[in-house]
Amino acid sequence: MNQNGFRHILSLSGGKDSAALAIYLRDRIPDMEYVFHDTGKELPETYEYLGRLEAILGKEIHKSTVENGDFIGFDQLLKVYGGMLPSSHRRWCTRMMKLRPFERFIGSGKCYNYVGLRADEDRTGYISSKPNIIPIYPFKEDGLVRGDIVNILEESGLGMPPYTEWGRTRSGCFFCFYQQKIEWVRLKETYPDLFEQAKAYEKPGKKATTTFYWCGNEPLAELEKPERMEQIKREHELVKARKKANSANKSLMNILGGVDDYESNEGCLICQL
Ligand code: SF4
Repeated sequence: MNQNGFRHILSLSGGKDSAALAIYLRDRIPDMEYVFHDTGKELPETYEYLGRLEAILGKEIHKSTVENGDFIGFDQLLKVYGGMLPSSHRRWCTRMMKLRPFERFIGSGKCYNYVGLRADEDRTGYISSKPNIIPIYPFKEDGLVRGDIVNILEESGLGMPPYTEWGRTRSGCFFCFYQQKIEWVRLKETYPDLFEQAKAYEKPGKKATTTFYWCGNEPLAELEKPERMEQIKREHELVKARKKANSANKSLMNILGGVDDYESNEGCLICQL
């Protein structure tokens, strides 16, 4: 806490930008508090990545959970919402599993909330709008872009989040509806058990008039058919080739880095930065 009574808080998502921001600010803001809002539905490697980050920061990362009164996790919340899976239009998950735990962690005191939004992106997303929480965007203020973030991570020894190795582009819940179809294919190939769990959630809601799907109107039971997975892969390669051809100004690191540069402008700042 500084002399004005403000706490310094950095929310980690398990993603590259918030991890890089923590490293970037480590020596500048010694009383920084780090927090990770665990939905209980994260990818397994997220915990390992945060453990390594903790060692680099030399400080504990506080883990907040969804638990609050009757709600002890996603499955209970889903019942409260009548079996209605969250989506970009019904994004109760971010509010209940990320924002509320964050606001509980802050309480009513004043704080600076450091957000890893980069200078090369124009994302919108959920961040707290409580008046006692003042957002600060160091990467935007200092003009840092994606290549800088990759450099910070490489130089620190932390590297990119491990899930990028199998082609996932974002942190957050394994069933996140912001995944592209190709990411669902990769989830199926990398973590068939998690894919099965995600698929099991696709059933009619309380009134049994609607079935909710994670991936638009396409049930995961359809998406996982071998011919459909092959089609998604082919289409993805075509889009990738087109993007590569159009990206004359893209940095060499992005092109050679093996990570698809398909960050959405949507998503949650708190889930995915
Ligand atoms: S990662 Fe996706 S599914 Fe999980 S809370 Fe965030 S928006 Fe919801």
